[in-house]
Formats: sequence, structure tokens, C-alpha cells
Amino acid sequence: MHVDSEMLVPSGARQDVPPFNWPSAPKVKLGATGADSEMSDLEREMQKNLHAFAEKVMRPIGAQLDRMSAEDVVAADSPYWRYLDELRAMELSPRVFLELSPLERGRLFPIVLVEMGWGDGGLSIIYGACSLPPLMALVFNRRFLIERFPDSLRGCWAITEPDHGSDSLDVSRQAFHAMGSYGRPNCVATIRGDKVVINGQKSAWVSNAPTAEVCVLYCAADTGSGADTANGVCMLVPMDAPGVSRGRPLEKIGQRALPQGEVYFDNVELNTDYVVAGPEDFQRAVYFIHSEANAQMACIWTGVARAAYEMAFEYAHQRKQGGVPIIRHQAVASRLFHMYRKVEASRALARRVCLYNHTAAIPALQSAMAAKITGTQTAFEVASEALQIFGGNGLTREYPIEKLLRDARASMIEDGCNDLLAIKAGFNMIDPDLF
Ligand SMILES: Cc1cc2nc3c(=O)[nH]c(=O)nc-3n(C[C@H](O)[C@H](O)[C@H](O)COP(=O)(O)OP(=O)(O)OC[C@H]3O[C@@H](n4cnc5c(N)ncnc54)[C@H](O)[C@@H]3O)c2cc1C
Repeated sequence: MHVDSEMLVPSGARQDVPPFNWPSAPKVKLGATGADSEMSDLEREMQKNLHAFAEKVMRPIGAQLDRMSAEDVVAADSPYWRYLDELRAMELSPRVFLELSPLERGRLFPIVLVEMGWGDGGLSIIYGACSLPPLMALVFNRRFLIERFPDSLRGCWAITEPDHGSDSLDVSRQAFHAMGSYGRPNCVATIRGDKVVINGQKSAWVSNAPTAEVCVLYCAADTGSGADTANGVCMLVPMDAPGVSRGRPLEKIGQRALPQGEVYFDNVELNTDYVVAGPEDFQRAVYFIHSEANAQMACIWTGVARAAYEMAFEYAHQRKQGGVPIIRHQAVASRLFHMYRKVEASRALARRVCLYNHTAAIPALQSAMAAKITGTQTAFEVASEALQIFGGNGLTREYPIEKLLRDARASMIEDGCNDLLAIKAGFNMIDPDLF
């Protein structure tokens, strides 16, 4: 077998320093991306830009919004609006990424999202919510919608309902209880000819709903034989359409920078041009958005975990107890190592899954769920360990750790409770060929 070493190693990636030329006590200082292989010029540049954005814009604004009431977060003088302006200036719309090759996109997108998560979890979710309506229009190639709703609009994704949280993310009914029935949906789109009439409401958890200009709505469809909750409709709804209204922004423990609230529909009448996926495509549309959203969550919460780890790492070098920086104490060094290990594993999985899902013919939903569960669980565990390293200081609002812990706790319920996702992913893996 002939092996051309030039083909195996990206140019410039190998140091070629033989061990006998290493320092006598070899040691490697890893940067922000950990034990990462060579990045392309574009990836390095984007990471640098996004890191600066996360540090100078997202962190300070996220910290400010965290202390404000939910109503004040969306008030006219809130820094929330400055974040959106600065985010728009970064030009990170789905259209920009879709112009890259699947390979480039699959490598670059997670790098961008991890940096954003490092800046602020809740503000990163705003970016995700804004990107979903244009992404759906582009991926399902709906020309009318692509032109009707420019990428710059504020967006939201409304799928869960007051009576259907986990249920609404289980359209294939894989995780449904044998004795259960779905019951009445809280929101129904009645489709007759070329008209759709929407009635009902979505849950108080719709991210970015209080300010959104366009909503990607998933709900039951009635095409003439009653509301079908398994074969519903996915459509883009202008939030200023007659009959659309919103609830008050929700007060919650974490991700307080992210405004959330109900969306109400009172005889909202739209043309079928607004439909992204009708009943025949509904399960495909749920599968796509769920795979995409869970992979995004994996990256964002890996970034939050990295932020908590880095803060604890720095603090452990500064804080002295027993006459030495606390990192000299074995238990602290060991705790930090396990935090580092978890961040590295979570990042590797998130990036691997994004790369697979962007390049495969059909994304692997179970892999996106694995990465989402790992990323959010890692963020929660690492933030909790970081708080332990900060000792009493970690419990106070003088330090940023308690916020990271609150933000991370919410992520384990967001985009599907981790317990439910694990059941669904397990069922998804069943191979009928092996029975
Ligand atoms: C920060 C955040 C952001 C969110 N953003 C959005 C958004 O943008 N758009 C949107 O539509 N929704 C959004 N949600 C809603 C989110 O998707 C739901 O909260 C989630 O799906 C769980 O639904 P639920 O809260 O109604 O809990 P429930 O479904 O009532 O679940 C309660 C408990 O029962 C368990 N359970 C339920 N069903 C099963 C089952 N079949 N098997 C085993 N256990 C089960 C759950 O795991 C959970 O522990 C967001 C939520 C959060 C916290």
C-alpha cells in the first residue's frame, strides 16, 4: 500500500519536532479550541471575530439583561435592541452559510455557535430563533417566503402548546404512552382551498416571541376531517397579521436575556403561499427542524460550559487558601481536569454531529439528540463544578458563575426535555432488520 503523507496531514499542520528536541519537561498550552487540529483561514478568522463579538457585545449585554425584569428586557430603551443591531451587522444569516459547501458549513457553523454560547446562552438562542424562519423557507425552497421575509427580520419558532410540550416534539408518537391519547390540540390551522385559517395559541415558552416579526409555526392541520396532530402544517406567519397577538414576557430563572411568551391566533387568515410544509411533509419538517435545533443547542451549550471552565480555571490561579493558589490543591486541580475533559468531549461530539448532519443526505436526529443532551448536561455539570471552585463567591451575583448555572439548567428542558429526547433517540435507533 502506498501512503502519501502529504495527503494525510493538512499543510502546515505538522510541527515535525522529534521528541529528543522537546523541552525536558514537555507541556502543551491549549488555546480556546482545545486539542483541535488545524483550522482553515476562514475558520480561524470567523472564530476570532465571533470571539470578539461574544466578549465585547454578548457578555456585557447578557449580564445587563439578566438583572432586568422580563418586561424591561423588551422595552424600547433595553440593550436587547443594541444586541440585535450588532448581531445583524455580523451577517450570520442562514443564506450566508448555505452558500458554503456542506463540508465548509458543517465545520464552520459549530465553531461560530460555540463562540456565541461562550458569550451568552440566552442571546445565542435569539440568534437561533431568528435564523429558523428563513432557514425553513430556504431549505424547503419556498420562493414566495424567501422574498416575503428578509433574513434581517426577528424570528421565532412556535411548536409547543400549553397542553402539549413533550407531546408536540413527538409527532411520530414514538415516546407516547401505550395508554395515552394526544387529546385536543391548542392550535389548529384549517386548510380550505388556497386559504389557511389559524385559531388557538402556542405555549409561553416561544423564544423571542415577544418581539418577533415572523414566526415559523408548527401546528395541527384540519383539511376537512378534523384536526390532525400527527400530520400538521408548518408555515411562516407574519406577526403583524390581523388576529395575531402575544402574551406578556415570561419571568424565569435562567436565560433571562431571552424573551419568551405565548403567541395567540384569532381567525388568522393567510394564503397557502405561507405554507412551508403541508400535512404530507409535516413529519419531514419536524425531523429537519428538530435535528437542526438540537445540533445548534449542542454547540451553544458547549460554549457555555467552556465559559464556566475558563472562569474557574482563572479563578483557581488567583484565589489563595492555605497559602497557595487553590489550583495547587489536588482536589481543585482534579475537579478542573474533569471539567476540561467534559468540555472537550462535548465540543468534539457537537462538531462531529454538525459535520455529519450538514454533509449527509439525511441528518441523523438521534446524533443531534445525543449532542444536545451531552452539551446541555455538560454545561450544567461544569457550571455547577465551577461554582464549587468559586466557593461562597460563586453563590453571589457579584460573580458570573451563578448566572451560567441558571442559564444551563433551563437548557436541559429547552428544545425537548433531555429525558424525552433520550427515549425518542433510543426508539429511533431500533433496527427492524435485526429482529
Ligand atoms: C429556555 C427554553 C426555551 C424554549 N424555547 C421554545 C421555543 O422557541 N419554541 C417552543 O415552541 N417551545 C420552546 N420551549 C418549550 C420546550 O420545548 C418545552 O418546555 C419542552 O418540550 C418540555 O415541555 P413541557 O415544559 O410542557 O414539559 P412536559 O412535556 O409537561 O414534561 C414534564 C415532565 O414529564 C416528562 N415527560 C413528558 N412526556 C414524557 C414521555 N413521553 N416519556 C417520559 N417522560 C415524559 C418530561 O421529561 C418532563 O420531565 C422552550 C423551553 C425552554 C425552557
